[in-house]
Amino acid sequence: MHNILTDDEIHAVKANVAERAAEFVAIADVIWDYAELGFAEVKSSKALASALKNHGFAVKWGIGGLPTAFVAERGSGGPTLGILGEFDALAEMSQAAGHTAEEAAEAGGSGYGCGHHLLGTAGALAAIVAADRLKATGTAGTVRYFGCPAEESLGGKAFMARAGAFDGLNAAFSWHPGPRSSGYLNLTRAFRQIRVRFRGVAAHAALAPHLGRSALDAAELMNIGANYLREHIGRDEHIHYAYMDAGGMAANVVQARAELAYIMRSETVADVIALSDRLRKVAEGAAMMTETTVTFEVEAGMSPCRPNLTLARMMHSLLERAGPPDFSAGDHEDAQRFADLRDDGNANAPLHSGIEPLPEDYRASMGSTDVGDVSMIVPMAQVWVASYASGTGFHTWQMVAQGKLGAAHRGMLKAAEVIAASVLASANHPEILAAATVEHRAHFGTAPYTCPIPNDVMPPLPKI
Ligand SMILES: [Zn+2]
Repeated sequence: MHNILTDDEIHAVKANVAERAAEFVAIADVIWDYAELGFAEVKSSKALASALKNHGFAVKWGIGGLPTAFVAERGSGGPTLGILGEFDALAEMSQAAGHTAEEAAEAGGSGYGCGHHLLGTAGALAAIVAADRLKATGTAGTVRYFGCPAEESLGGKAFMARAGAFDGLNAAFSWHPGPRSSGYLNLTRAFRQIRVRFRGVAAHAALAPHLGRSALDAAELMNIGANYLREHIGRDEHIHYAYMDAGGMAANVVQARAELAYIMRSETVADVIALSDRLRKVAEGAAMMTETTVTFEVEAGMSPCRPNLTLARMMHSLLERAGPPDFSAGDHEDAQRFADLRDDGNANAPLHSGIEPLPEDYRASMGSTDVGDVSMIVPMAQVWVASYASGTGFHTWQMVAQGKLGAAHRGMLKAAEVIAASVLASANHPEILAAATVEHRAHFGTAPYTCPIPNDVMPPLPKI
């Protein structure tokens, strides 16, 4: 993996990123301010698409029927290289920027507890830099940026994948901001989210209970059934649940409606579909016992993520070539204020300023991501880049608070360098793409991609 790009080319990428840094730091900051939720990222997606358009990309909207999903493309011929971007915030995670105490910027508002304002922006910057360098060096290649909504909630990429958005790519690259810089060899789980709605008959709970049919009873019985089912599922499978509607506030009414959400995780898409089929029987049993009716709807699904080893190694070597983020003394001081909040041994190293070696092998993760659907279709790799104080947890107010600090910006710019370099190395080295494709076929075979979401299901899109 040595010399896949010359030092001059690495320097040219860095210079090109530095030249555009101010523009893209401003975009990341404004997206942080918008803090839009999944499928409602109207202003955030427009900010990124406009920047890409201004830099010569052709933009197509509404991919897979999702209004905030877009594809932006520039270049011609050669391999088609994808860059994945996300930009959704998390509900009820609003937090004042830079504050070291929990304090919402807007009561009940949303916030970037997973750094997706940096994630999508770095990818857009990388796309522009890569396209510029391909042109400057006369290298054939097409750069395709994917604006992917709702990673946090319902997994926009699976809906985009179902519509064929990622077909025809030779490789795809992304990154995720976090507290460390390292390669990414996580294996995540297949995922399915179900909405179960029971309908019964309302009645006075004391005067006419015999006329009532309780949807709330059905929901309770379903959860009991699911608890027993848990003993007889795979060791690595999970069933999570939440009450979305317990039928109302009045205890003297037989509840005529109740609603549950279930999430299931398994190793494979086939397993998670089989598990949800078993849970459907539990729902039907609960409805039968209570003489209510039930609807059982798949809302979202995600495939397990398996990064491509060939590309992961290449990307990690380019992360090492680009070096860790160029943190300033001020960044270390800012991070120290957050590290001081904890007593977990990170206080002496508030920012991770190195690069961890690539793990020897894959690491199993119990979580899920819609990047998995891309990894099933095309060789995909990503890296972690330090953008937050050491020890900062994901989906915490501390992560939201650090989203506009210098370290976050510098992590983002570093990620843009690494992604752009990965695209350029791929365009210059067809033998790496060929090896990545051989590896992909050896693992996944040539069977077509099976989307974990049924064909007729669309996500509940907000009115925008
Ligand atoms: Zn995330």
